[in-house]
Amino acid sequence: MDRRQFLRTTAAGVPALLASGGSLFAQEFDLVIRGGRVIDPDQGIDRVADVAISGGQIAAIRPNIPMIQAAQSLDAAGKLVVPGLIDVHLHARDAELPPAAILKLGVTSMIDGGSRGADNVAQLLQVAQSAPNRMRILLNIGRLGNNPNGRAEFLDGIDQADVAKARAAVEANRAWIVGLKARLSRGIAADRDQEVLRRALQVAEPTNIPIMIHMGDTASPLPQILAMLRPGDIVSHLYAPTPHGILDERGKILPEVRAARLRGVLFDFGNGLNEHWNWEVAQKALKQDFPPDTISTDLTIAGRTEQVIDLPNVMSKFLLMGMKLNDVIACVTSNASRAIREFHPYGTLRAGSVADVTVLELQQGSVEFVDNYKGKRTGMQRLVTRAVVNGGRLVV
Ligand SMILES: [Zn+2]
Repeated sequence: MDRRQFLRTTAAGVPALLASGGSLFAQEFDLVIRGGRVIDPDQGIDRVADVAISGGQIAAIRPNIPMIQAAQSLDAAGKLVVPGLIDVHLHARDAELPPAAILKLGVTSMIDGGSRGADNVAQLLQVAQSAPNRMRILLNIGRLGNNPNGRAEFLDGIDQADVAKARAAVEANRAWIVGLKARLSRGIAADRDQEVLRRALQVAEPTNIPIMIHMGDTASPLPQILAMLRPGDIVSHLYAPTPHGILDERGKILPEVRAARLRGVLFDFGNGLNEHWNWEVAQKALKQDFPPDTISTDLTIAGRTEQVIDLPNVMSKFLLMGMKLNDVIACVTSNASRAIREFHPYGTLRAGSVADVTVLELQQGSVEFVDNYKGKRTGMQRLVTRAVVNGGRLVV
């Protein structure tokens, strides 16, 4: 018999006390996560405390909540207790990697970044609508999406970027499609990057949604592409070392890149597997105070077993590169919630917000990380998910 069962039995045996209010034996909280280091960048919190959850919401962050006040307790001593992680760029298109599996990795809110387009988004909508966590979609401006079984989006011409079809798909599914994805690299768009982006803007402007672009090895220099973006648009793969990255030939951040950030264009990491980043570019940019706004995985089924693994693993690479733990956590909580309008209420442990919480362990010991070019580095810390609370419910 656990404490809750014991108290219920007692209460049931004392009807007079129950009738006179009932709260004498009722627990104030459904779940208390105890004794962890609570880090919530949204509120500037970093201290050891208990996080209390009630009715699917965060109820309080307090020291030493008495056991008797909690129906269920989770010991988080020695662990980090942070808002449920938000991954703004992954791919949930693989049956082998369903949202339920991604939730267990610590991700309570996530964005599929362009796996599908107007012609084939129905299946992905179904995945999002049946996900146990919060999944939303960036519609690929190419109407077949990433189309893994065929040629990349725009190699055979610009016809796949069908403005009318994309706009109709967004308007019909506005609650689920929260932005557009435009992949602009030469291997996808050939020399049509600006035309692809122009067409994406023709959908995004009237529907009032952001565009996430996939940069690196574009036909056009990056400043020309950035000039077309609006505040709130997102540049993914910011540390792509291929031609037309964020650095000039001397390794300095381009002034146009800093100017874009200043006017509200956001920069996302997007780990992925191929040609999206290497240590050298990331390290040079971080040294020049150009961290990502958001750290995302660009996770696919292939990435589960190499390079990417999961979001905490990707976060760990930034610890290795010298970024502060709290800043890394901000990139997957408060910053990520700000990047996606529909995620604004999440990525926080504020009282009254939905109780999405991830418990992480910061493991010590040497661990090897790899960039997209087989570059290996050894770090001394690694973040690992230990527990996940999704909408107040303990998942793992
Ligand atoms: Zn992607």
